[in-house]
Amino acid sequence: MPGTLFVVATPIGNLGDLSPRALETLRAVAAICAEDTRHTRQLLARYGVEKPLLALHEHNEGELAERLVARLLAGESLALVSDAGTPLVSDPGFRLVRAARAAGVRVSPLPGPSAFVAALSVAGLPSDRFVFEGFLPAKTGARRERLAALAGETRTLAFYESAHRIEETLADMVQAFGAARPAVLARELTKLFETVLDGTVAELHARVAADADQRRGEFVLLVQGVGEDADARIAEGRRLYAKLGEHLPPSTAAKLAADLSGAPRKALYPGRDAG
Ligand code: SAM
Repeated sequence: MPGTLFVVATPIGNLGDLSPRALETLRAVAAICAEDTRHTRQLLARYGVEKPLLALHEHNEGELAERLVARLLAGESLALVSDAGTPLVSDPGFRLVRAARAAGVRVSPLPGPSAFVAALSVAGLPSDRFVFEGFLPAKTGARRERLAALAGETRTLAFYESAHRIEETLADMVQAFGAARPAVLARELTKLFETVLDGTVAELHARVAADADQRRGEFVLLVQGVGEDADARIAEGRRLYAKLGEHLPPSTAAKLAADLSGAPRKALYPGRDAG
């Protein structure tokens, strides 16, 4: 009988968030594949678990996956964890899971924390539909391009961001989404300095720029989509119409701006109501 690959979520800060079933599974498997073995060793030490650890990260995953699948097929059960939260969510593991499934190995989840779900659950932004964007590109040009492409998105947007780029990213969002777009910045969730700030993207940018403490730690940035209320949709449509109008005939610019923003076309011309 082949073994099982257990994909185990671990805490995003507070170590008490490891589930009893996750712990039981980590105790039962033959070995644990971990993104950073030193980091995972600390988690295991807290619970008195001693287990062989195998480093599995983006640079060796492709090559290691084959060997791990062979062990699974030979009957060993293995666990996959990442440094924090749910493996495969902006973390390694996709290649291993795909290889295990392709080989007919059972892959079973031990669900638990994920930073964007935790943020969404306390943000008070529309959450029945949302888009997980993960990390934006590190290079300024590519990041701005990505944000421009997302400006007409109607669903709530979820981003991961690091301390050294949070201020710059918020500044870029003011440009791409307009200053008035509602957003929530969730910092250090489940940790000592947990902070959840809400406001417009411009307000959040000002807050982060003014206070170095608000630039420390780990961040989830949630941005409300444009389609969530008619005023925001129209504001977005007018912004796009003005921009597209620089390069296209007015009727084409209006059609594209209406399609992208979801605003009625006739509301885009200055001085007109949505009617
Ligand atoms: N697999 C993880 C998950 O399920 O959330 C995400 C891993 S990703 C490499 C790490 C990023 O997640 C951080 O840079 C930050 O954006 C976000 N993150 C992780 N822990 C967080 C926390 N406690 N509070 C806020 N954001 C966090």
